[in-house]
Parts: sequence; structure tokens; C-alpha cells
Amino acid sequence: MSRILIIEDEEAIAILEKDYLELSGFEVDIAGRGGEGLDKAIQEDYDLIILDLMLPEINGFEICREIRQRKDLPIIMVSAKKDDIDKIRGLGLGADDYMTKPFSPSELVARVKAHLERFNRLTGLNSRKNDMIEIRGLKIDKTARRVWVNGEETPFTTKEFDLLTFLAENPNRVFKKDELFREIWGMDSVGDIATVTVHIKKIREKIEFNTSKPQYIETIWGVGYRFRI
Ligand code: CA
Repeated sequence: MSRILIIEDEEAIAILEKDYLELSGFEVDIAGRGGEGLDKAIQEDYDLIILDLMLPEINGFEICREIRQRKDLPIIMVSAKKDDIDKIRGLGLGADDYMTKPFSPSELVARVKAHLERFNRLTGLNSRKNDMIEIRGLKIDKTARRVWVNGEETPFTTKEFDLLTFLAENPNRVFKKDELFREIWGMDSVGDIATVTVHIKKIREKIEFNTSKPQYIETIWGVGYRFRI
């Protein structure tokens, strides 16, 4: 069954869309806020996303850009203003389709089906293998952004995943905290190197058997961290 995520803050619209899609046999989740929508889109495994443009916290432009950097799946953008649709096209964000509100739910269902069929055809042709990292009991699927610790799937936030993957891809090298902060959060981010410490702690709680004797991420006192293989 195909899974669809609706990121939409107008509850009545989201529920109407959900009802119609479920009647057509889809499994549907709703996120009413931008941040929640982005987290779900990245962390969970959806087949298609219906994305409203004007949302609380993070707008649809930004969400579309973020999803595109990490995932390959159809995105249908929705807006109340025709002008916005032109803007979305102009920005080249990589949305697969655009719809102006109000639209009929059956029109939406038809487009969803068409995009899923097209996408499945394309990916079926070059059925790509997922990009995996495996180190002892730790397995990271970079394509699906999933992590298993000793065979058990463990949820990671976006930044925890990025930090863990970066370290695991650059093993046996010592990184200073500020280097890691720049690498994962970027120069213009709000925050400081304490953010790195907090994230390392959370990652260790998830992957280490004994966090005071870490077998993966070592602390190099006064310098930073090193991923050991
Ligand atoms: Ca809205």
C-alpha cells in the first residue's frame, strides 16, 4: 500500500484530502505544522507528499528544498494563490506537480495515482541499491535514512543522523567540535558547539552499549571526537 503524507495546516482541507485518498486505498498521515511535516517526510518512508505552501514554522518552499536534498519521491505542491504556483515553478524547487486551491478531491486522487505510477515506472527501471554503511553492530542506510543497532531499528533525528553518518564515513579522523558544527549545521546556523556535544550524547545513548566506554564515537579530550573502526 502506498503511503502519503499531507502537510497542510487547514484541518478541514487535510481531512477531506485524507478521506478521499483512503477511499482510493492509500495510507495517509497528516502534519499540520511545517516542522512536524519536514521531520515526518525525512524520517518516515512515504511514497508521495502533498505539500501546502503557507504553513506555520517552515513554509512549503523550504520544506520542498529540504526534502529534495535527501529524498527522491513525488511532491505535489498546493497553494491558494495562482501567483504562488508561478513562483514555485520559477524557483525550480523540484516539485513534481502544482495545484491551486480549491480543487476537487477526485482531481487530487487522479494526480496522485498518475505520479505514483510514473515514479514506480522510473525507479523500477533503474532499481537503485541503497547506500549502506555497516560497522560492527551498526548499520546505516543512507538512502532511506534508517539506522539499526544490533539488528534493531532505532529512530534518529535529522541532525543526529547527519552527524552520525558524517563521522562513520570519515572514521579514525579526529574532528574538532567547531568543525563538526560547521559541517552539519552550517555557518549561518543559530547555535554553538555545545549543540554538537548534546547531539553526540544522544547518538551515544542510541548506539553505544556502555556510554561511558564508547566503542564507536571516542572523545579526544580537549580536541573533539573520532569514529573508531
Ligand atoms: Ca496553509
